[in-house]
Amino acid sequence: MDSTTITLQQSFLETNFHEIQFAAIFGGMILLFLIEGFIPRRQTDKNQTSRWLSNIGLALFNHFFIIFYSVLVFGLLARFKPESPLIEHFKMCDISSLLIVILIMELMTYWIHRLFHKVEFLWRIHAVHHSDTEIDVTTSHRHHPFEPMINALIITPIIFALGAPFIVLAIYTFMHTAISLFSHSNIVLPKRLDAVLRLFIVTPDFHRMHHSSDKQYTNSNYGAMQPWLDYLFRTASKKPYEDLPDMEVGLEVLRKNKDNRLDKLFTTPFIYKTESK
Ligand SMILES: [Zn+2]
Repeated sequence: MDSTTITLQQSFLETNFHEIQFAAIFGGMILLFLIEGFIPRRQTDKNQTSRWLSNIGLALFNHFFIIFYSVLVFGLLARFKPESPLIEHFKMCDISSLLIVILIMELMTYWIHRLFHKVEFLWRIHAVHHSDTEIDVTTSHRHHPFEPMINALIITPIIFALGAPFIVLAIYTFMHTAISLFSHSNIVLPKRLDAVLRLFIVTPDFHRMHHSSDKQYTNSNYGAMQPWLDYLFRTASKKPYEDLPDMEVGLEVLRKNKDNRLDKLFTTPFIYKTESK
């Protein structure tokens, strides 16, 4: 493959990034949704249709809303772009840039996630993600729009400071999307496969503990792509999911059907405190 072909492929990816990202999110969701039907980890007799519709509705809203919001944030913060970003300064190749991006973004997302659990007003926003009373692939993109908005404000300056090539950021984004869909999915993996996979990525059994309504587990397993930082900072759950197969998912509050309605998910951060008393 010559350099002209690579350049053409990169510019195709750049021009059509949002469409490709849309296909990756919703195509991946459909694929894992089908797999969940064949090998579910948790059985549920409750009708899930209204949950699914709310979660997918929120995912669609966020996808299109964030495109416009990101353009705004990038435009506003672009004036603070450093003249010699880290990756350009050290003339790194794409592979080393990708490793640096993964390392720094994982550190950032891990600590931002912990902040969302620690700070009251951030927790009310993040509670929309945690209030899902079951966990499956549709939970992966159930976030109040304020959450990706706040993330973008914090992460954009880091992206500028790193100065990674577009292709590297795109690969990182697709990896993050794929692992997020997978780690939320309600699928059972052979025990050995799970043990090997979890050395490198967050598996569904690992992440499901984070969605327990029992606070000691909710405040554990924060990692988005890798479980390493949870081991390093001692936030990995001491109990494996297989010891708690009947654990309750969600929060202790916001468990009624109406709490999962799409319009309610938008207002949850404003009513959460009242309902939690
Ligand atoms: Zn969380």
